[in-house]
This record gives sequence, C-alpha cells and structure tokens, in this order.
Amino acid sequence: MTRLEGEGGGDDMAIDGAEPAKPQLCNVPEGFDPNYLKLYYGKLFPYAEIFKWMSYGNDGKHPGCDHTYFGRREFSFTLENDIYLRFQSFSSSSELESSIKEKCPFKIDIGPVYTVDPAKRHAYAKAGDNVFSPVERELIFDIDMTDYDDIRYCCSGADVCLDCWPLMTIAIKVIDTSLRDDFGFNHILWAFSGRRGVHCWVCDLRARRLTNEQRGAIAEYFRVYKGNENNHKKVSLGQVLHPFLVRSYNEVLETFFEERLLPGQKLLETEERFENVLQMIPDESFASDLRGRWQDHRRSSNVKEDINIVRWQQLKHLSKSGKHKAQGLRRCVEEIVFSFTYPRIDMEVSKHMNHLLKAPFCVHPKTGRVCVPIDPDHCEEFDPTAVPTLSSLLRELNMGGPVADHENGWEGTSLSKSIRFFRSSFLQPLLKSCKEEIEASYNTELQQSKNSLSW
Ligand SMILES: [Zn+2]
Repeated sequence: MTRLEGEGGGDDMAIDGAEPAKPQLCNVPEGFDPNYLKLYYGKLFPYAEIFKWMSYGNDGKHPGCDHTYFGRREFSFTLENDIYLRFQSFSSSSELESSIKEKCPFKIDIGPVYTVDPAKRHAYAKAGDNVFSPVERELIFDIDMTDYDDIRYCCSGADVCLDCWPLMTIAIKVIDTSLRDDFGFNHILWAFSGRRGVHCWVCDLRARRLTNEQRGAIAEYFRVYKGNENNHKKVSLGQVLHPFLVRSYNEVLETFFEERLLPGQKLLETEERFENVLQMIPDESFASDLRGRWQDHRRSSNVKEDINIVRWQQLKHLSKSGKHKAQGLRRCVEEIVFSFTYPRIDMEVSKHMNHLLKAPFCVHPKTGRVCVPIDPDHCEEFDPTAVPTLSSLLRELNMGGPVADHENGWEGTSLSKSIRFFRSSFLQPLLKSCKEEIEASYNTELQQSKNSLSW
C-alpha cells in the first residue's frame, strides 16, 4: 500500500510517540520557510546585540542615560502576505524579543528615533501639539545591484554572481574610506542586504543628528553618475577632479576595472559591447581608429592574452599618443572607468531621516540568506553566495550536538563569526564612545546648572 492510498482512509495509524509534525531538520531543503524562520528567531537571532546597538549606551546606570531612548525607536515588521506593521516600539530587549518571536516577521525594518514613543503617536496628536517627529537616525546608504544592470552582462535584476559582486566591493571601499577620511565618521556598519546589494549604517552621534538637508548634501557629495538609458556618457567629471574622486580612482576604481570587471564582464569582447564604450568617446576620429583595430580580429595574434585587456591597453595607449592627444581624451578614459565602476547610491534612502532600512541579521524571504555584516577592511573576501542560509543554519543546529549548552543558540553555528565581528569590531567601540558622550553631556549640563545657581 502506498502512502497516498493510506491517506484519508479513516484509520490513521497511531504514529509512535504521537508527536506533532516538526520540520525535518536532518534534511532541510534550501530556501525560505516560515517554520524555519520561527526556529531562527527562537534560537539564533541576536536580540541582545540589536538592543545594545539601538540603545546607544542609554540602557546603562549613569544618571545621564535617557531611558526613554530605545522606546522611541520605530521598528517595522513585514508579516506573511505583505502585511505591514509600522510604528512598533519596545521598552526593553525582552519585549523586542517576545514580539519578534510571536509575530515571526518576514522582514524587520528599523526607522528613526522619534520625539515620543511611535506606538503612542496618536495619543500625543490628540493633545494638540504636533510633537511627533523624527529626532535621530543613522545616516544610511542603500546600494542595489539592479542599478548597475546597464553595465553588467553576467546577470540582471535580482541575480548576483562573483563576476558582478566586485561592483559592491568597490562601493564599500569608496564610500567607507570617504565617510571615515572626509567626514570623520568612525562607527560604520556594512551589511549584506540578503540578495543583491549592501546597506551602510553610519552610527556616530553626529551622523544620527544630521538634518535632512545635511543628509542630502552628503549623498550629493558621492554623486557623479548622471546618466540615463539614452545618454551614453554616464559620467561627467568636469575640468578638475575633486581630490576624493582622484583618490577613489587611483586606489580602487582603476585596479578593479582592469583586473576584475574588464575581463569578468568581458566589456570589450564583442562588437556590441565595445560599441557601448566607443560611444562614450567624444573624439570621432579616435573612436573610429579603435573601431577599425577591434573589428579586425586577425591582427590580434597573441591569443593567450585576454582580448578585453589587450583592447583596453590599446585604448589607453592611443589616447596618449601624438595622433590623438586631444585635451579631453585623458579625462575620457577616466570617465569610462567611472561609468563601469563608481558606486550608485539610492539617493532617496540617504536623504530622509524617516526612511526605513532592513535590520542586520534578518533573513531575506526570497533567498533565505541572513543579512550578515561585512567587514569593510576585508570586503574583497566577502562571498554573497557563501552566506549562511536559514536551511544551512538549521542543519548546523541539528547536527551541532551540545548547542543547548551555550548561552547563545548561535554559538557553534556559522553565524557566530558574523555576530562576533558585529560585537567586537562595531558594537564595542561604538558603546565606548556612547558612554563617553553621555558622561560629557551630563557633566556639561551639571556645570551649566551650577553656574546658573551661583550668580
Ligand atoms: Zn553577475
């Protein structure tokens, strides 16, 4: 008798032990499953770390701590079937934990800190004052691979692979260096978005208190990409290059272009592809000279060398030669490199304080991958296809043996490396600064009140 025949036969055989059906952990299929998500939130999600981060030192015992701080932060949950729960707020780590465990959100977003508890905003509105507004928010950046579809040939849309991922590595390197060196920020968290991009959280107090106008100005600072589908020249660098762009070009863009993207994306391999590059060249005689060389395959006798690299060297060499030594050609080489490498930021996300951004350590509901932090100092080593998935973690939990002995369920799983990195490289230095800031501002206030009493 096959199983199917047995079903609905009316005489369900008693299953030994009569346990309720559980997901089969030994054989967890890849992908996303709400049942697995429940186990993930039950055993693996780092609640304590997220609470510590979002408290910014205000959960301490110092009299300068603001104990309302964490409770004024907006969390937003996306439940199954795209049900959105905006303006969730929690007064403690355990409240956050039990709500997440109960609701099992497919996605958790983090919003700003408001003037008042966002869950009680209506009560305040009835009181008549317009007191509900955002007061603090990390400066955030969202970089999505779909914005690069016109310059990658390996995949499109939601897909990423190791040939196009260097575009994200470039974005992390360029933006991280600038945020630290040009803007003086120290507490920066990078995270994988779970599918096809990266998120950046700048958490210094100075960054959290930026106005929308200031955020807009910083986002504009990073913008050189002004192209559209009908305009072949995507980047216009102007006469004098800003020192930030010179540094980005010399330290990151040129090398990544020549070593990774040119051969990886085969940018000059076919006529269709090299035409895209030739159309960015303003000098028609220079472009047609190159076109002539590249269309004639027989001339490239050295078959061992990558055709894309050979052609690029020709372009660079010719642009400097006497025949074509026109003014704009040197800049044109740089503009081509910028077009194919420079970070493309979703400006709207960075400009507004009340934009939501997915919390690190969420699980992407399409890929099942965890949104793990990325170390900007070693971002070349990050492999999006090797990030732990819901299924791989549950398999580890099941095989790991004495996982229950650990205080944290994630210890002993492949998530522990990410959580330890989050703690030691991001959270600990951040909380040290927060402590100092709370103490300093408390002492200043104390001094001020003393001064006002002693006249
Ligand atoms: Zn790809």
